[in-house]
Amino acid sequence: MGKKNFKGISTITLHTANHENDNFSHTTPIYATSTFTFGSAEEGMERFKGDDKTRLYTRWGNPTFTAAEQTIEALESRGLTDEHGAPLQVKALLHASGQAAMTTLFFSNLSAGDTLISHYSLYGGSQELMQKVLNETGVKVILIDIHDEALLLETLKANPSTKLIHLETPANPTLQCVDIKAICTIAHAHNVKVSVDNTVATPYLQQPFALGADFIFHSATKFLNGHGSALHGVLLGKDLEFMHTKVWKWHVLLGGNSNAFDAYLLIQGMKTLELRMEKHCSNAEKVANYLNAHPAIAHVNYTGLASHPHHAIAKKQMKQHAPLISFELKGGIDAGKKFINAVEVCTRAVSLGTVDTLVSHPASMTHMSIPKIEREKYGITDGLIRMSVGIENIEDLEADLAQALAKAQL
Ligand SMILES: *Cc1c(COP(=O)(O)O)cnc(C)c1O
Repeated sequence: MGKKNFKGISTITLHTANHENDNFSHTTPIYATSTFTFGSAEEGMERFKGDDKTRLYTRWGNPTFTAAEQTIEALESRGLTDEHGAPLQVKALLHASGQAAMTTLFFSNLSAGDTLISHYSLYGGSQELMQKVLNETGVKVILIDIHDEALLLETLKANPSTKLIHLETPANPTLQCVDIKAICTIAHAHNVKVSVDNTVATPYLQQPFALGADFIFHSATKFLNGHGSALHGVLLGKDLEFMHTKVWKWHVLLGGNSNAFDAYLLIQGMKTLELRMEKHCSNAEKVANYLNAHPAIAHVNYTGLASHPHHAIAKKQMKQHAPLISFELKGGIDAGKKFINAVEVCTRAVSLGTVDTLVSHPASMTHMSIPKIEREKYGITDGLIRMSVGIENIEDLEADLAQALAKAQL
């Protein structure tokens, strides 16, 4: 096990996890155990003293988690070097969900009196965690239009207690992108750390550590797992000392650990990350162009279209465009519901990043409880459909969209 500096994503995801186990299992064993045994008191003492705390008690770590963590470490540090030119070492901690990983990120970096700066159009759970939980602990949360550099500088100046800037790029459902490198430069000049939610891009499209990020967050529930078979979250950091001490301590004490079966599903899912992303991305480009030319559609949000306000930022920092699209039906909320009811190939479900195409209608589903005025500020209009493009045959997908759009217009 351990870092082997493979060049390619598939080599990493196929060969980083442990093949070296007592019973010669080809796939990573599922270590379904709460605790680990010691041969003697001395051996126990040695293991408790050592750096590797993964073979003591599963809340502290587990060999199946380690295999998943090492794979993600290798993915996010792929081809990168540290300031001495040596391969970049990073640390990943696997959690029970994205929300659990984000809780560890915020709680280990922020305490009462500190300030967190983030931006509009975040994943709903992230924004609620900031405004309904973190706020209650005495941390000041400020959401701004982070594309406005003067406003960011002003906010930093007015809040010298700022410790962390949290970015999500591309962000759901309007695919807003943030210039990671530009924000990191400003943040670091103010002694502020930057975390990046890389869920939608995945390390296939974007490597935030290469752009200056201090932490990377994933809801591995999405593209990393790829099959919608479990929830997982990952928090990665470049400061190994900080990750192994404070972050690890908070993670273990908050108790948001994963479990061996879900970790196994993640390891299996990631094996095809590169193949899946290639197909997700090429299908998304075709679907976006198809939708963009359709008379029932007022507007398509996809970073690959030159009309997207952040097309240039996306192009600069991502290898290709992320396979997430949203589009506005001319017929408003009724057309939205009719479209959702009419699809036969696309799956009606929230979430994203599964092998099949998922469609949802935020105004009547995920964002139903948010007042229209509020949600429209974030671009969530009545006729907006969100689509996570899957790996189906493109002709089947386009035929499904054609018949569902025809019904939405009736
Ligand atoms: C799903 C998601 C999360 C939350 O992750 P869970 O695994 O559902 O806890 C955070 N950020 C983004 C961008 C997501 O899509």
